[in-house]
Amino acid sequence: MDCIFCKIIDKKIPSKMVYEDESVYAFEDIHPQAPIHILIVPKKHIDTILEAKAEDNELVGQMFQTANKIADERGVAQRGFRLVLNCNSEAGQSVYHIHLHLLAGRAMHWPPG
Ligand code: 5GP
Ligand code: ZN
Repeated sequence: MDCIFCKIIDKKIPSKMVYEDESVYAFEDIHPQAPIHILIVPKKHIDTILEAKAEDNELVGQMFQTANKIADERGVAQRGFRLVLNCNSEAGQSVYHIHLHLLAGRAMHWPPG
């Protein structure tokens, strides 16, 4: 399987790591869309959120807990932040290994583009 995020998790491709534990890895997005733009990925490869099963519920929860922790550490928890998870082409998913975008550090617009 040729997955860029699996290679980043395995440190075969360099990344700016923000957080790591046994099940989750977080790193700076290479093309930041906000002053803070961090990707939170499970170490387990899952193509899209549609493939996340009940057995992955804890793992998906850990992704959100990691986002909370990073938002707190970066001082944006109370100011506000946005979590985005794109699924399939119309949503703009470009890497087929699920990832949560943590965006913060500027006012966010709604509806999103
Ligand atoms: P998606 O469009 O799938 O929701 O988000 C994929 C994200 O991964 C994009 O924001 C893109 O900038 C980021 N990305 C793609 N390739 C790399 C890479 O090699 N390194 C890092 N750090 N981010 C990447
Ligand atoms: Zn992968």
